Amino acid sequence: MNIAVLGAGISGLSAAYRLRQLMPNATIRVFDRRNRYGGVLETLNRNGFQIEQSADNFITTIPWGVKLCKELGLGEQLVQTNPLVRRTYVVRSGRLYLLPDGFLMMAPTKLLPMAVTPILSPFGKLRAGLELFIPARKDNLDESMAHFVRRRLGREVFERLVEPLVSGVYAADMEKLSVLATLPRFREMERDHGSLIRAMQKQLAANRAAHLAEQSGARYSMFVTLRNGLSSLCDALAKTLQPETLQIGREVTKIQKTAEGQWLLETKISDSRTATSQTAVSQKTSIISNVASPPVKSTFVETENFDAIIFATPIHESSRLLRDSMPELAGKLAKIEHEGTAVATFAFNLDQIKQTFRGMGFVVPKAEQSPILAGSFSSLKYEHRAPDGKFLIRIFAGGSRSPELAELPADRLIPLLWAEMRKILKINGEPLFTVIAHWSRTMPQYHVGHRELVQDIETLANSEPTLALAGNAFHGVGIPNCIQSGFLAAEKLSASLVK
Ligand SMILES: Cc1cc2nc3c(=O)[nH]c(=O)nc-3n(C[C@H](O)[C@H](O)[C@H](O)COP(=O)(O)OP(=O)(O)OC[C@H]3O[C@@H](n4cnc5c(N)ncnc54)[C@H](O)[C@@H]3O)c2cc1C
Repeated sequence: MNIAVLGAGISGLSAAYRLRQLMPNATIRVFDRRNRYGGVLETLNRNGFQIEQSADNFITTIPWGVKLCKELGLGEQLVQTNPLVRRTYVVRSGRLYLLPDGFLMMAPTKLLPMAVTPILSPFGKLRAGLELFIPARKDNLDESMAHFVRRRLGREVFERLVEPLVSGVYAADMEKLSVLATLPRFREMERDHGSLIRAMQKQLAANRAAHLAEQSGARYSMFVTLRNGLSSLCDALAKTLQPETLQIGREVTKIQKTAEGQWLLETKISDSRTATSQTAVSQKTSIISNVASPPVKSTFVETENFDAIIFATPIHESSRLLRDSMPELAGKLAKIEHEGTAVATFAFNLDQIKQTFRGMGFVVPKAEQSPILAGSFSSLKYEHRAPDGKFLIRIFAGGSRSPELAELPADRLIPLLWAEMRKILKINGEPLFTVIAHWSRTMPQYHVGHRELVQDIETLANSEPTLALAGNAFHGVGIPNCIQSGFLAAEKLSASLVK
């Protein structure tokens, strides 16, 4: 058996790893147009700093991430977030305020911090408290996250607390984002307990949420990273594959289904557009950008037949490649929209930071009209990421709020972000260096109706036994979801090929 995996991100690597377990005699080829494997996961080491260019940790409540790390011998490398600063700031009128303790994504665990927070007006607090008495929705129909939060907790809680938190994580427009596809547990809380506040308080009383009551923002105690960076997970996966399996720097340009039922792939050596490059923009600040040098065109094209194929490419790319052989499926895939983000990392000496941060980062509401979506105090969240006496901050820009920023060249974006963060965070002097990554069209948007769309896609994909889809566009964007998607794709092919 000859099997092609398209895309060597965490989804494609997980699929290849599982295929090798299930079909040890199969020939597996993993193609990626970039000059490295890992997809958006990329750890840089520079001057003693550890810089994550996109994802910087993953959740443990979805087991696939931790399980795979342990299976690959990385269990000892798992590190938890710093327990002293598991809180989030929100910006209001250009200043940082801590989110009320116990306010997690879309619901308050404790009432007192909500009652005294300066972020909400007395009217906003009153409206949030009325959540206890608002009748629960009983049907199973989808709605936007914005609609859900305004309906339950009111406009102020939505605009000042939830919108910045969720936009920061999903780079998404809350007016379009599906609550059932993105954070269904909150609708379950409403259905089962009649109110989000009541549901959280019951969890607290049952002592299941005591550890959450002292946190705010994300449930930080449930996240881990790897001491040597998330690229070490991709390295460990790549090591389990035979050397000729990884076809890095080779782009799949065309796919055809042959009369014999095989998949004919046309591939070419990629241009260098996505290689990492370095640009010095001033003597003080050097910028590393992942968008780079002029393309080197190549005519080295190959074609090869495969018995089966796994798509672990971003879904807009899978859709383009499937247009000729499975047009209906390609059409459905094209309905999933994508947003991009830029991640800028700034390094400092600790004495440049004039305040003691009590949170892991900050989020910025849309109403602030800031170029920054969110920021993360990277070396406070995980202390091993900066040498003693240094500090590392990551800034996110772009998403659906300002898509143009996700594409803005480094020499224009960095000064814009630096001027803004300097105002908000009151940092002295200039950064030691800055690293920027542009991730264009990498974040699928789970809009209202996403679950039904995915059902249609899966029905069409299942009608073709030699094709499987993996990646972040279907059942969750997080790393553990991607790993699971790769495993399931491999299992589907193995079940249909090994009869
Ligand atoms: C800025 C950012 C922050 C994030 N933060 C977190 C976080 O903290 N925690 C978390 O769990 N998740 C996070 N995520 C989400 C998570 O990192 C991603 O969903 C996941 O890594 C996607 O993996 P993937 O393999 O599905 O796709 P990708 O990593 O996008 O890989 C797809 C690969 O396909 C290749 N490709 C595309 N077209 C072709 C072609 N024609 N031929 C060959 N190869 C092709 C690409 O080069 C790419 O390498 C974040 C994502 C981003 C962008």
